[in-house]
Amino acid sequence: MEQEISVHGHPSPTMIRIQDNYPENLDTVYPAKIQTIWVYRVRAFDTFPGLKHAIFTRRGGVSPSPFRSLNLSVSVGDNPQTVQKNFFNACHAVSVPPEKTVSSYLVHGADVSTIDKSNQQLVIGQSDALITAEPGIYLFMRFGDCTPLLFFDPIRKAVGLTHAGWRGTMQDAAGATVKAMIDRLGCEAKNIIAVIGPAIGPCCYEVGPEVMTAASQTFDKLDHLFSYPNGPKKRAYFDLWEANQQQLAKAGVRHIIQSKLCTACRTDDFFSHRAEKGRTGRFGVVIGLEEKIE
Ligand SMILES: [Zn+2]
Repeated sequence: MEQEISVHGHPSPTMIRIQDNYPENLDTVYPAKIQTIWVYRVRAFDTFPGLKHAIFTRRGGVSPSPFRSLNLSVSVGDNPQTVQKNFFNACHAVSVPPEKTVSSYLVHGADVSTIDKSNQQLVIGQSDALITAEPGIYLFMRFGDCTPLLFFDPIRKAVGLTHAGWRGTMQDAAGATVKAMIDRLGCEAKNIIAVIGPAIGPCCYEVGPEVMTAASQTFDKLDHLFSYPNGPKKRAYFDLWEANQQQLAKAGVRHIIQSKLCTACRTDDFFSHRAEKGRTGRFGVVIGLEEKIE
C-alpha cells in the first residue's frame, strides 16, 4: 500500500492513450506519500508530463484535533498560522509555488471563473468552479464532504476544478464547468478526463426532502440517485457520485474516473463535516500545468 513517489517521475508520454480503448488500469486513484504528506493521485494524470495534481488527505500536517492534521481551511476555527504552515508544506510536497495557487470563496453555486495572468490572485472572490489554460496557475480548493471534480484536457492543455455539494450539483456545476472549458478555452468534451474525488458517499449521505425535491427538478430520472437503506418510510440517501457522473456524461465527457472514496467512512484519511458533526477541517485539492522554463 505504501509507496514513495517522485512528482517529477512521470512515465514516458508515449504511454498516453486518449482513445476509445482507454486502459482500465489508469482509472484508479491511489494513495502515495510525498515527504510527510499523504495524498491520493490519479493514475491517468501521472502519464502527462507537466500536469501537477494532488488530492491531499488529512494526514501529514501540524494541526491538533479536531483539525488533525493537514487542515487547509482558516474558516473552521483552526489557528491561521498552523493552517498556513500546512498550506506551505502541502504545496512544497507537490512542487507547487504557494503564491501561484488560485483559490476562491466557495458559495455552493455553479458560476465558473476563467483564470489567466490578468486576473490571477491568491483568492479571486466567490466561485465554485475554476478553469485555466495558462501554465503556472494552480487551481486550489478545500473540501470536507462536497464533491471535488478535477478536469484535464490533454489536447488543449487546460484544467478545471469544481466544488459540487448537493446545492452545486442541483445547479449542474459539473456540466457548467465542461461547457465553460469548451466555450471559453476551446476544449472538446471527448478529450476531457474528469475525476470525481473523495466526497460523502451513497453509504452515508442521508438527506432531507429538500434534496429530493431539488433533484426531481434537475434530473430526468431519480432511480439511481436515491436509496432507502432504512426502509421506504425513513429518510433517503443521496448519491452525489452518481449524480455528478450523470451530469459529466450528459455534458459529453467520456473519460470519467470515480475515486469511490467516502469522506464520512474514511475519516482516517479525510475530513467529513457530516461524520464529525461540523468540528473538523478541510482537505485540499490542487491541479495545474507546470510553467515552461524557456
Ligand atoms: Zn460512507
